[in-house]
Amino acid sequence: MTLLEVQNLTVTYAGGAAAVRGVDLSLATGRKLGIAGESGCGKSTLALALLRLLPAGTRVGGKILLDGEDILTMRWGQVRAVRWAGASIVFQGAMHSLNAVHRVGDQIAEPILLHRMATTAAARRKAGELLEQVGLPAARASAYPHELSGGQRQRVMIAMALACEPRLIVADEPTTALDVMIQAQILRLIEQLVSEQDVGLIMISHDLAVLADTCDRLAVMYAGRVVEEGPARQVYEDALHPYAEALSSAFPRIGDPASRFAPHGLAGDPPDPSALPSGCAFHPRCAVALDVCGTEDQALRVASRERRAACTHVPADPGEGSVT
Ligand code: ADP
Ligand code: MG
Repeated sequence: MTLLEVQNLTVTYAGGAAAVRGVDLSLATGRKLGIAGESGCGKSTLALALLRLLPAGTRVGGKILLDGEDILTMRWGQVRAVRWAGASIVFQGAMHSLNAVHRVGDQIAEPILLHRMATTAAARRKAGELLEQVGLPAARASAYPHELSGGQRQRVMIAMALACEPRLIVADEPTTALDVMIQAQILRLIEQLVSEQDVGLIMISHDLAVLADTCDRLAVMYAGRVVEEGPARQVYEDALHPYAEALSSAFPRIGDPASRFAPHGLAGDPPDPSALPSGCAFHPRCAVALDVCGTEDQALRVASRERRAACTHVPADPGEGSVT
């Protein structure tokens, strides 16, 4: 069953150009979708849109259906109910957003009290259980954030995200601030927890190798668009789009401390949304660009039963038609 369906999502920040440009994605209940791409490609913008956390004045178009209900047209009261209980988010560097003057157990219990109306004692008990689920002793509930390591704080954030038993968790580069060994542990922990609890996961990272190890499907974003989407292993090992290919050859396997390089053979940076190249936004950096790539925009199209890509070198599967 479909848990999340994003249709033609477009996000334009106040005074800026579109940072997300017509994204279609879907996620089945209990499945894991990875989203990869260099900095500035619109991954966080997409994540924030999913929970309506974008700054005031941002224009958002399209649909975001969670269990069939459009998050974009919900009343605020409903949006608040959805956050935590329907869908919750683990941010990039979120562990710095713990409140320094409150014990971590109370911070985990807070959303339970807010959204579940549990008694204080029951919420406290649940906080202890959640800490154990994320690999910390329940007694750490009485610790203050500064008494925990970075990895432990990120585990607390994950416990908070799980507190109200959401059906969808969005993890936006949840481990970027941590050292490499801890990163792998935390990513595995998130994956285990979602698998055990049948929660849907959207995991954002610029590291394709990590996502290929932890997710069912993988979407690669470039300049605010999904340029390739398909089964995670296939996208990682045999990318169809030249950008996905460059990203996958950039990152050796998980656990390799040298795994943070610019994409292989790919000079420059993704374009600013306000200065997009004509045609395919990737063409100025593409090693296999043709003349047509500078003039014709490339839509995401069905390449085979399970795969979609937006590149002139990838013909649409005649049996499938194009994705609209
Ligand atoms: P990613 O997470 O892939 O690094 P982001 O979604 O953070 O990408 O950014 C996409 C684009 O949107 C970038 O060009 C960035 O500068 C711009 N952007 C991000 N946040 C804001 C904001 N609050 N106001 C205006 N522009 C923004
Ligand atoms: Mg980001």
